[in-house]
Amino acid sequence: MAQIRVENLEKSFGAFQAVKASSFTVEDGEFFCLLGPSGCGKTTTLRMIAGLELPTSGAIFLGGDEVAQKRASERDIAFVFQLFALYPHMNVRKNIGFSLLCEGVAAAEIRTRVEEAARILRIGHLLDKPVSGLSSGDRQRVALGRAIVRKPKCFLMDEPLGALDTELREAMIHELRGLHDRLGATTVYVTHDQLEAMAMADKIAVMNAGVVEQVASPKVIYDRPASLFVADFIGSPPMNFLPFRGALAPGASEIRLGQGRVAMPAAREAVAESDLVLGVRPEHVRFSEAGAVRGAVYGAEYLGTTQIVTVTTDYGMLRARAPSAAAFATGEAVGLDFRPEKLSVFDKASGRAIR
Ligand code: ATP
Repeated sequence: MAQIRVENLEKSFGAFQAVKASSFTVEDGEFFCLLGPSGCGKTTTLRMIAGLELPTSGAIFLGGDEVAQKRASERDIAFVFQLFALYPHMNVRKNIGFSLLCEGVAAAEIRTRVEEAARILRIGHLLDKPVSGLSSGDRQRVALGRAIVRKPKCFLMDEPLGALDTELREAMIHELRGLHDRLGATTVYVTHDQLEAMAMADKIAVMNAGVVEQVASPKVIYDRPASLFVADFIGSPPMNFLPFRGALAPGASEIRLGQGRVAMPAAREAVAESDLVLGVRPEHVRFSEAGAVRGAVYGAEYLGTTQIVTVTTDYGMLRARAPSAAAFATGEAVGLDFRPEKLSVFDKASGRAIR
């Protein structure tokens, strides 16, 4: 079992708290992404799991064993860094097998395991080539080879694709996920790139300023963000936010937005009159004559099969995704409606999702 469980994990550097009371569970065999903007504490969390950084407080369980105070070498994990340093004077075979050599594994066994890793990564034909002449994609594969040859129970990866250009990154996303499906090893993957996380992860933990704001599948993170931060961080173009003042009675199925009324699924809890924020993704905005929100077309951005239409309203600029065939004239008066079942409502002060 290679489940990873983190409980109330905290890390301070002097007076600065980089990770605050983080708890999550990575199930055995799961591909788990730590996602968030630069400086939110992803790398620090990963380094604590790896044993490269000691937690200030909290517990880390690897397969049931509490390891928070154990050394990295006592944990059955492999760390893949962004800036993978390959040994430039060694060929591919030696680079991949080096850690096994250091562990004193017999030469024949090293040979078998290196060739198996190379076959999985489809770099068997490069084994006797120097690493200096390799493309960055192949160098990345060699770096991965060095991790998988050890057959660890867990992989920890810190932005391993960060240095690659877009095209290669997209190819490597599919390759990494495919590799994961073949090996089935528990993987924790750090990225600030939502597309990488959405494409690869079984589960995502979204972090903000040291706090884990939500842990869920990519679909739930996208459809039911737990906070304003998560809603804003995920999605491109981002979710529209309409600030309003209002109250919700339990079971209420519409909200009053100025003169208009917006339908929504029944509220689970009552909310006293307060500052709220309605959240709606561009693809859930519909143009309709009787729309609750009135506005004027500001411009449209052509994206091929769809276009993003920007509309000025009393609630600020709203963006709607429309079929590219629909014609919009700048300045044209339009009404906007929202798909009720897709709406989010947040408490402005706490940022917490009310529904
Ligand atoms: P990035 O993608 O930029 O690495 P991150 O989310 O991985 O961001 P961390 O590297 O975990 O963020 O850093 C979290 C915060 O802790 C940052 O503000 C960083 O400056 C600070 N920090 C990290 N390591 C140390 C350290 N050894 N000493 C002091 N502060 C540190």
